[in-house]
Amino acid sequence: MPLNVPGLLVPFQLLFKPRIIVPAISVKDIRRLDFQALRDAGYRGAVFDKDNCLTISHEDRLVPELHDAWKECKETFGRDNILIVSNSAGTRRDAGAIQAESVSYHLSVPVLRHNTLKPGYPCISSIRKYFSSLPNPVKDDELIIVGDRVFTDVVMANRMNPKHRLFPSQSRPQAEAGAREGPLAIWTTDVWKKESMLMRWFEKQLVAAVQRWIVKRSDPEREGGVVGLMQRLVKPEPAVKVAEDKSGVQYWVTRRLNPFARAEPPPRKRGRWRRIGVAS
Ligand SMILES: [Mg+2]
Repeated sequence: MPLNVPGLLVPFQLLFKPRIIVPAISVKDIRRLDFQALRDAGYRGAVFDKDNCLTISHEDRLVPELHDAWKECKETFGRDNILIVSNSAGTRRDAGAIQAESVSYHLSVPVLRHNTLKPGYPCISSIRKYFSSLPNPVKDDELIIVGDRVFTDVVMANRMNPKHRLFPSQSRPQAEAGAREGPLAIWTTDVWKKESMLMRWFEKQLVAAVQRWIVKRSDPEREGGVVGLMQRLVKPEPAVKVAEDKSGVQYWVTRRLNPFARAEPPPRKRGRWRRIGVAS
């Protein structure tokens, strides 16, 4: 894996701008995102990470479980308003952009070619260049940026927000209270294939610490804003009842051979019981 210098510099930026690692929304995976609600809220473009967000790492095909959500996303935003920005496909180590072509083919959206890894500023410039070249250009504050890594995807989204700049521009007009100033940073917390788990655990602890000790203390109203965002833009978690495995030794020891185990409730023919699907 190549050295991600822009990513390695994030801890230094964190010292001065700790909120740079805090996402606007966190969801388990993209199935929880309400793309129509995002569109209705004024977001017209989407940047997606690839590995462990849309595909299994180092694979080019969409994770099958995400098929419906991805279809909904493309129908809502339109193919050209979605851009995949990966630190594998489309980078210098993707010789001949073969992987970028393959991912673009399988996911039916463009993949950004870039020489600097996320969250580098040249990569941000390439993203802006792409969206400003569209027939109907998309501005930064009309973008959602979705990814599974805090130090790359979330930081990149927040770096595009003027309020997180280390040295704010004096000429920048003061934004109105509550006005959007940059992309919506969305963090997907579940992984499709375990990798870099220690780093992910560290990122999670760091985000929780910044939220607890800095964001909530200095901006208690933000918590209400985040809850409001989640209610508007995130689908409710489906009610899931996982079927009990009756074939294992554990079931026989704890349920069938245990005289104190409670009997299973008899199935009701009518009433409030309803069949609940098993999680995919
Ligand atoms: Mg990723």
